[in-house]
Amino acid sequence: MVARVTVLGSTGSIGQSTLDVLARHPDKFAVHALSAYSRIELLVAQARATAARVVVVPTDAAAQEFRRLWGAGVLSPELRVGANALAETAGDDQSQIVMAAIVGAAGLPAALAAAQAGKRVLLANKEALVAAGSLFMAAVKANGAELLPIDSEHNAIFQCLPHHGRASAPTQPAPGVRRLILTASGGPFRLRRWEDLHAVTPEEACAHPNWSMGRKISVDSATMLNKGLEVIEAHWLFAMPPDQISVVIHPQSVVHSMVEYIDGSVVAQLGQPDMRTPIAYGLGFPDRLASGVGLLDLAAAGRLDFSEPDLGELPCLRLSFEALRSGQVACVALNAANEIAVEAFLTNKLSYTRIPSVIEGVLEQMRAAQGATINGIDDVLNLDLEARRRAQQIVFSHSQ
Ligand code: NAD
Ligand code: MG
Repeated sequence: MVARVTVLGSTGSIGQSTLDVLARHPDKFAVHALSAYSRIELLVAQARATAARVVVVPTDAAAQEFRRLWGAGVLSPELRVGANALAETAGDDQSQIVMAAIVGAAGLPAALAAAQAGKRVLLANKEALVAAGSLFMAAVKANGAELLPIDSEHNAIFQCLPHHGRASAPTQPAPGVRRLILTASGGPFRLRRWEDLHAVTPEEACAHPNWSMGRKISVDSATMLNKGLEVIEAHWLFAMPPDQISVVIHPQSVVHSMVEYIDGSVVAQLGQPDMRTPIAYGLGFPDRLASGVGLLDLAAAGRLDFSEPDLGELPCLRLSFEALRSGQVACVALNAANEIAVEAFLTNKLSYTRIPSVIEGVLEQMRAAQGATINGIDDVLNLDLEARRRAQQIVFSHSQ
């Protein structure tokens, strides 16, 4: 049987890798829907190549552009417009698999809708889980959805944990596990001191040594806020207490992460740094699919290095651990403030080293709200908005 797949954020780095893997298996998968926020020309090309039935764009203007570029002649896919249409498409009964590859908390409603519809959810959009971990995992459980982590570290950990052919939401750590060990490349500034980084440019920050990714996650990888988001993500995905999640610097990005067991065994997953491996794993699970990724030549790699991260030099990683220990309100605030700060940095409105100052300022301002309970997605979205507003103010004050 051919499974129908919806790719949210199909024009992004993960979206494009997903379409590459899908195209290798026309006997197993067909595309139901694609979505993009910009780059409509690429969306048109993708819709043609995949014969998608539905495309979702953010505005009427984008829909018009899509129609113009599509032209007359061949029947156009159904065009849907706006964030509500995106969530409805993610949850509709026309696809069995949803790749959640939108960047940022903007992807949360659609990813959640896919979980609520009980689908197989391939989750790349880590910000959704950071902002709404408990709600998201509860929706997976309550609706019998399958959650396959696509972030390479979490996909590696998933592969290293015992499972029984189904990817459900655990409520406690897997038996016998002592620790999850997330690897981090250390990004482009691994060998530089934090205090020397205030003049770095967006181009320098986005030049990741091992991975080719979207600009937001590239900056996060440079500051290591990405690893902080991943620690929070691991906490929710694997029901693991913060103290049993650690980070090790591994510049070659060959070991994608590890699981340490109580008997002293450490199980790792290795491979080339190419997201098509975790994507193929998520699509095929529990079977393995060809992904187009080449062989890992360990002899050519020669050596693999590991070292301890220095939290004194990595303020964004330190703030992430603190947010996780403070609770969900702090995690929403951390993520939202970072999204604003990174956008400001990428548009030359904020210096690189001010990114953690913005996050810390917002966390400080929202400390009083930290005991608040989160009952639903509206609570998350309201807190997210408040944190964004506060972050904008801090960015503005820094630019004066
Ligand atoms: P990207 O910037 O390359 O692509 C983002 C996609 O989301 C695009 O299709 C864009 O049009 C769409 N989008 C952006 N803003 C949107 C909005 N407000 N509403 C709807 N759609 C919107 O990003 P990426 O590198 O592909 O990353 C996607 C997600 O996957 C992120 O959460 C990232 O952290 C995660 N991830 C990426 C990688 C990687 O190698 N790129 C690895 C692990 C995890
Ligand atoms: Mg990752």
